[in-house]
Amino acid sequence: MEEWDKLYPGWLKLALKIAYNIDDYRFRLGAVLVKGGSVIAKGRNRQSKHYNFEMFRGLHAEIAALRWVSPNVSRNSYLYVGRLRMDNTIGLALPCSNCMNMITRKRIKKIIYTTDTGGYKVLSL
Ligand SMILES: [Zn+2]
Repeated sequence: MEEWDKLYPGWLKLALKIAYNIDDYRFRLGAVLVKGGSVIAKGRNRQSKHYNFEMFRGLHAEIAALRWVSPNVSRNSYLYVGRLRMDNTIGLALPCSNCMNMITRKRIKKIIYTTDTGGYKVLSL
């Protein structure tokens, strides 16, 4: 176990803080990419007002965090994803299949995401 494994909840708190600051209450997700105990990228969910189907889905927090990061940099990193519901309780932040594809391409080692019960789960890739 790496030294920064102990920091799971701390990095998740940062992801939730990013989510908390999103104005659009429908979809509040924050993502933080961590490697060697340092944040290398952050992202937040952005909904689009356009009606084109792809655009309507908006930009997911995970892709916002990862899109400009080289796989050589993100290799063996940890991705923390936190979701807040409209009432500020914690929600499920399991990445969708689209985001999972990018997460796999970026060679991320683990995903730590919040769950419906207010806790978190760790997914090793
Ligand atoms: Zn997604």
